[in-house]
Amino acid sequence: MGFDRFNRDIHYLRISLTDMCNLRCLYCMPEDMPFRTPDTLLQDDEIHRLVRIFARLGFNKFRLTGGEPTLRSGIVNLVQRMADTPGVKVLALTTNGLTLNRLAHPLKEAGIQRINISIDTLDPEKYRRLTGRDALDTVWAGIRAAEAAGLEIKLNTVVIRGYNDREDAVDLARLTQEHDWQIRYIEVMPMGHVVDFQKQHMVTESELRSTISAGLGPMDILHEGRLDGEARVYRLRGARGTLGFISAVSQPFCSGCNRARLTADGRLLMCLLRDHELNLMPLLRNGATDGDLADRIEKAVWLKPWGHGLSEDIHPRRNMSEVGG
Ligand code: SAM
Ligand code: SF4
Repeated sequence: MGFDRFNRDIHYLRISLTDMCNLRCLYCMPEDMPFRTPDTLLQDDEIHRLVRIFARLGFNKFRLTGGEPTLRSGIVNLVQRMADTPGVKVLALTTNGLTLNRLAHPLKEAGIQRINISIDTLDPEKYRRLTGRDALDTVWAGIRAAEAAGLEIKLNTVVIRGYNDREDAVDLARLTQEHDWQIRYIEVMPMGHVVDFQKQHMVTESELRSTISAGLGPMDILHEGRLDGEARVYRLRGARGTLGFISAVSQPFCSGCNRARLTADGRLLMCLLRDHELNLMPLLRNGATDGDLADRIEKAVWLKPWGHGLSEDIHPRRNMSEVGG
């Protein structure tokens, strides 16, 4: 079960735990971003209930994201409850890494297996320009803590023309020569309040691969070009780790999309880049049974849109931090 009307097997739910963040990445949210009040967000019991229902419907992979998910109090306990839910096979987290020095070990113990840590440059001053905070050392401490905890690590980099698309991208790729990590280069997507900035600063995968190869030599494509999740994966000759390219703008992967998204305020989105949604909050708070919720979710999965509308210049109103990137 879990197939949509285009025969895509939908079994991966990304859950945004909060829209709040302790960074202000230029490509994600404005400096004066307003955040929701806690009572308007899903409570732990509500998230756990939904995870049980999704798992019964055949979802087996769950990723916690945000905003910054590790700012949610009680996250370790929530992860533990999710990990103990029958049917949950893979539990992953996407984070900016700022709290990992403290949380990597307890999160691993609670059940997180994989972690994506966002780091757009290895240069402290450029990091401050991109994220609004002087915090690169703290991210590195978090990466080291994640490694020490035994988490499977991927590093996410959103590539922004004129900020980190040249030597920064090469320096990050160089890390794979020493570390068994995947560096994921993400094409910036236009959405929410900062669309003009995103559109003006997008760099395509092909341009980026040329830049990296000019600096570090040829790279070979892996898995015969099949996507690993949403990434096309390459390896620099002799490197331990890999390079993943997530190119939703220049090479959309909608035909293989297997995911749904739950926002922190309880809306189910079947496409990151479309505004159609099923608001589960009123159902949860007005006595819907598990059966009612399962029916509504199944219908939403069936009606998942075929693809995003970026080529028609349609972009969503919500920011990435609200949808849960
Ligand atoms: N705060 C956490 C973090 O930064 O990893 C989790 C949430 S963040 C929205 C998830 C991922 O989306 C990050 O890797 C971030 O760099 C990426 N992202 C944010 N805005 C984006 C955009 N407009 N296009 C593509 N990726 C974006
Ligand atoms: Fe915060 Fe992540 Fe958005 Fe950066 S990308 S502002 S860390 S939610």
